Amino acid sequence: MTDKMTPLEIMQKLISFPTVSSESNLPLVEWVEEYLGSHGIVSHCYTDPDQPKAALFAHVGPQVEGAVVLSGHTDVVPVEGQAWDSDPFTVIERDGKYFGRGTCDMKGFDALAIWALVEAQTVGVNRPLQLALSYDEEVGCTGAPPMIEAMQPILPKGSAVIVGEPSMMKAVTGHKGGYGYSTHVQGFEVHSSLVHTGVSAIMQAAKLIDWTNTTNAENWAKEPDAISGMFEPPWTTLHVGVIEGGTAQNITAKDCRFSLDMRVLPTENAASWRDAYLQRVRDVESEMQAIHPDTKIVVEQIFDVPGLKPEENGEAESLARSITGDNGSHVVSYGTEAGQFQQAGYSAVVCGPGDIAQAHQPNEYVTVAQFNAGHDFMKTLVQGLAG
Ligand SMILES: [Zn+2]
Repeated sequence: MTDKMTPLEIMQKLISFPTVSSESNLPLVEWVEEYLGSHGIVSHCYTDPDQPKAALFAHVGPQVEGAVVLSGHTDVVPVEGQAWDSDPFTVIERDGKYFGRGTCDMKGFDALAIWALVEAQTVGVNRPLQLALSYDEEVGCTGAPPMIEAMQPILPKGSAVIVGEPSMMKAVTGHKGGYGYSTHVQGFEVHSSLVHTGVSAIMQAAKLIDWTNTTNAENWAKEPDAISGMFEPPWTTLHVGVIEGGTAQNITAKDCRFSLDMRVLPTENAASWRDAYLQRVRDVESEMQAIHPDTKIVVEQIFDVPGLKPEENGEAESLARSITGDNGSHVVSYGTEAGQFQQAGYSAVVCGPGDIAQAHQPNEYVTVAQFNAGHDFMKTLVQGLAG
């Protein structure tokens, strides 16, 4: 058995692996597996079939259902083009802060979770504790769904998931879902003087984009219910962030591509928003094809991050509240893997050290006070599982 490491030592180790989403996370996962193994904890991995990455999950305590699951992602955002005052992959303590890429988002929490697992194994717990470390969170939360699917036949099902994204250790019970689409409108080129015989992909795309304006206006005008009212803004939003198309002033554009993202209230059905968009796409497409049959619109889904819906008497929320003493209601505007756990039938909450404002920034940090608050949280959690 290797010596037990402190949460800080574990964080220092995790941050030394430059697990930017474009790179492999296998060295980090292998290290965690080895460290847990040295304390008698068996790790299971889900290995991505297409890239050198893996998710890791582990269980401590009796082989029964009802575990508390501590979940975090292992990937971090790039540091290129950012002005750092120190090596991003070395933790530096200065002015009451730990600086380093991932200290806040979210290897600080990962370290605390690993610490808690070893602590639970050492003291012995009556209620099990699980760890779930994903990858590719920063590139559209695509790593958690296969991990959650892989965990279920192997580990007894947990009943409360704490996703430790930075929330200043507040229990966050809701966020909107995020859905991204890429739309390629394929028109028909003619000289612009004969516009009635051509199909301008740009002008057709404009109809779809205007649908997003109209829909936003309609949503804005709705009276929000109690849960929607917690969000800013309290309605589902649509947004077109990128557009390109056309070749010349006097040619009807053959191609136009644009991105669309939808931020859907967790109380609303994301599939019905997608269907409403696709219906509009089909309508515009038939108008195009009435002019020229060799035209079409291709829509591709780019990302799909389900929202987190505040649960009524949610187990994860009450657990987090009982430990933090926080009784406020909190929702956030960023997406997390908590919605994906909830979609898979787990009670889930977001609660972790640090401020989201520091995530993805140059000189990213978590304050020593927040990190220690996270440590206190884990101590209380493990005591509760043991008692
Ligand atoms: Zn994160």
